[in-house]
Amino acid sequence: MSELSDHFSSECLRCPCGCGFGEQLGEVDVKLLIVLEGMRRARGADLPVEFCCRCDGWPIDDCPEAMPSHRRGYAAHVPFLDEVDCWKIAWAAREAGALGIWVHPHFLHVDVDRLPQRPKLGWGRP
Ligand SMILES: [Zn+2]
Ligand SMILES: [Zn+2]
Repeated sequence: MSELSDHFSSECLRCPCGCGFGEQLGEVDVKLLIVLEGMRRARGADLPVEFCCRCDGWPIDDCPEAMPSHRRGYAAHVPFLDEVDCWKIAWAAREAGALGIWVHPHFLHVDVDRLPQRPKLGWGRP
């Protein structure tokens, strides 16, 4: 395990299958780390990430809208605590440079990927 930014380590961001993807800075995109740090700052407390880097072997069903972004270390899922927390950290993500922010029932998908065709889910920058 290694620290990738002030508050995020490879342990919570890497692919859990054991392949090693996401253990290095660069595999986890630095822009994504900036977004996550901004969200954490806005919340004022720990920001657990439940789903970030995933290698090619990981089933696409876990993020059908944007699995390619997870396969390149550009995306993360962050559970939110309640509606207020949801919009607080979503706004912070946007301010910190997130390009895609999708609200799911219990978590936010945030990414720094410029996908050519983005499905209209939640909201994101055009
Ligand atoms: Zn893997
Ligand atoms: Zn996702």
